[in-house]
Amino acid sequence: MSDANCRRTLAADGRFRRPFPLPTSKAQYAPDRRARIEHIALTLSFDFKRAILYGRCETTFTAIGGALSSLVLQAGQMRIKDVRCGGKRTPFELIGDKLHIGVPKLAEGRSATVAVDYEVHKPEQGIYFIRPDKAYPDKPYQVWTQGQDADAHYWFPCVDHPNAKATTEVTATVPADCFVLSNGTLVSEALDRSRKSKTYHWKMDVPHVTYLVSVVAGEFVGRTSKVDGVPVSWYVEPGRETEGQRSFGKTPTMVRFFGDRIGYKYPYAKYAQIAVRDFIFGGMENTTCTTQTDSTLHDARAAIDFTSDDLVAHELAHQWFGDLLTCKDWAHAWLNESFATYFDSLFKQFDRGEDEFVIQRLVDQERYLKEDDERYRRPIVTNVFREPSDLFDRHLYEKGACVLHMLRTQLGDELWWRGINQYVTTNAMGNVETVDFARALERVSGRNLAQFFDQWIYGAGHPEFEIAYRWDADAKAAVVDVKQTQPETDGTSLFSVPVTLEFGLPRGKRERASITCDAREQSFRFPLPAKPQTFVFDPNADVLKTVKLGVPRQMLLHQLASEPLVASRIAAARALASDASPDSVAGLAEALGNDAFWGVRAEAAKALGKIRSDAALAALVRATKVAHPKARRAVAEALGEFRGDEPCRALEPLLASDKSYFVEAEAAKSIGKTRSSRAFDQLSRAMRKTSFNDVVRVHALAGYGELGDERAIAIALEWTSYGRSIFARRAAIAALAEFGDRRKDVVDAVIALLHDKQLRVRLAAVDALGKMNAAAALHELDHLATLDVDGRLASAAVEAAQKIRAGTAQSDELRRLRQDVDELRAANAKLQERLAEVGSPAATDGKRNGRARQAARRR
Ligand SMILES: [Zn+2]
Repeated sequence: MSDANCRRTLAADGRFRRPFPLPTSKAQYAPDRRARIEHIALTLSFDFKRAILYGRCETTFTAIGGALSSLVLQAGQMRIKDVRCGGKRTPFELIGDKLHIGVPKLAEGRSATVAVDYEVHKPEQGIYFIRPDKAYPDKPYQVWTQGQDADAHYWFPCVDHPNAKATTEVTATVPADCFVLSNGTLVSEALDRSRKSKTYHWKMDVPHVTYLVSVVAGEFVGRTSKVDGVPVSWYVEPGRETEGQRSFGKTPTMVRFFGDRIGYKYPYAKYAQIAVRDFIFGGMENTTCTTQTDSTLHDARAAIDFTSDDLVAHELAHQWFGDLLTCKDWAHAWLNESFATYFDSLFKQFDRGEDEFVIQRLVDQERYLKEDDERYRRPIVTNVFREPSDLFDRHLYEKGACVLHMLRTQLGDELWWRGINQYVTTNAMGNVETVDFARALERVSGRNLAQFFDQWIYGAGHPEFEIAYRWDADAKAAVVDVKQTQPETDGTSLFSVPVTLEFGLPRGKRERASITCDAREQSFRFPLPAKPQTFVFDPNADVLKTVKLGVPRQMLLHQLASEPLVASRIAAARALASDASPDSVAGLAEALGNDAFWGVRAEAAKALGKIRSDAALAALVRATKVAHPKARRAVAEALGEFRGDEPCRALEPLLASDKSYFVEAEAAKSIGKTRSSRAFDQLSRAMRKTSFNDVVRVHALAGYGELGDERAIAIALEWTSYGRSIFARRAAIAALAEFGDRRKDVVDAVIALLHDKQLRVRLAAVDALGKMNAAAALHELDHLATLDVDGRLASAAVEAAQKIRAGTAQSDELRRLRQDVDELRAANAKLQERLAEVGSPAATDGKRNGRARQAARRR
């Protein structure tokens, strides 16, 4: 389908980024579907204390494409007790994780039902038993499942691939004080007084995929409201109702918003969200019953600059994009994730306005560009991967969202929404591939979108522009030279992109022009009534790109101070970040203090942090009381770009008592980055603060890592221990990674965490070992990669091992190069001696110039 880039390429700053496919990646295809799964009925009970699931799975299926005499289901790490077909025992064999079930010969088009009785003991994937223990005595008993992307077969035998959709039902028996949430409609709820148990029967009569089948059990309380007749509920642990309302309160508005915009009403009998302990993702869009992490529940203080709306809107959008329409194959997973990401920001546009929508887009662009720059580049659609989870990256979420936004701006709102409606209506309840989406848009718009999809979806990268602006006074024309500088490698092409240009003329007049950038170098001339005061390339930041602007400073300053569009003012701040002149710093300081929107203030702070001059520092110090908490947080972050006591002292009051948890947190990290002699004590104070999701400790631990003070090692080691919060544990591991592999005790401690009980700690440990270049961990990492474990963990282990081997190879190479240099130096010295003997002047200059030294100090 699309190519795998196999060469290593140089990132912008000279580091190597790896090819996307990991060493054991290969082209993946959806399996055949000789047996069409019609219905899955699960009967479940649990031993909460011993972490055992007792299950019966009845699968009804139909033979297609010829007669069938067996059914093959996936059944990972489960004990199969009994298999029956039509009530009679039938032969079965478990080979690896494939359960081969013999069935009486079934003619094409005929159906049968097999019932599998099974048990799952102490599972590590698919189903999770949350229990109190000595380290976490207050933990409640909960059970929750997590199927995506291919873990459903660890809790019930099934065809665990998104190209099989079926109706499902779940009958679960739990202690009488427990609640069970599952897909679809609650058919019955029966109390058995003698057994002190309750049985919940849920039925989902719209076909959906196995990875979306969900069961959550535990003590929960809920609230329900109705939207257009559909019950919309949320469930939290008793006592957290206020936080539940704060986090999920906007859901009914979102349900109506998405239904109206898509032109396809919410498609199921109910929508529920349930917040569970120790969830391994942010949220999971299980059909009609999203599971959410309980760490999204927040108090009033967090609410000043934190919201669950993004998460809630994302998972809800999946009910259409992912659940009603499901990617046929993980290669097309962007049809789930990019849509949910973009529709979450569409809700933001509706709910919070245009400026917040722009900020979200800029954040999405930056996240993708960072991954592209530092990690790898890949096409959004590719079937070459190791685990489906490899694809769930910043290309799949953020880049795809940016691409959808470009489609919307190119088609215009009217055609875009008709296209979305066409796509959803035509494919509802089915499986989709990228071509289905393209066809729907083509049908309503009459456009040929082949080139668009080729360059943005099947191709990789993005345009990297260099723009030069000048005014031709004689001809009274603006001249704009546009270069695309991206190399045509790694599946990246020359792009054909429409871009809007805007000229700001005297007395507030503006002229816009549209150009198509489709050549390496192009020059455009625009006759104008007067010399423009501003020139803006892509004023609303609609195009995914990088850009180097060759625009006079005075015009950029004018743009920063006076452009009405937030994206234009931010673009000016970014361009000025590489200009340390007093005018530039003064303009940025002015924007930081006075711009009407916090997002521009934050960008000005960031630019001043990049400039790193004394005047920039002074401007940031003056701005520590800026009103908006998100702007203040940006100031705290920017101050971390400076070294020494002065920025540290400016940060201390922010850490000591800010209204926002996040400002305190950012101040802590930046204090570490200042490397001030005051920093260690300040961070030790920060470690005593309790905060929402431990965010202050998390950043203080990052600050210790940045500070590099060896006294922090013992502290970080202590905070990795089982019993501490998951947030602090992961941050402590990441902090240890900053100390590299020079201390054996630290490396050994992190290796030991590869066997931790908490998955997210194991993931953090793998990541840290890669960063530490810990050759001592190679054996363990290679072993982990071969085990039947969580896909993310296995791939992360492969990636870390690859990094360590490359790092080791690089340091070997470096050692060889150093030897070569030493030898050359020795040879040179001898040569100089000889030359001196024969009377020739030896010219060596070991002096470093003062400015370079100064710059080196600042860094
Ligand atoms: Zn998602």
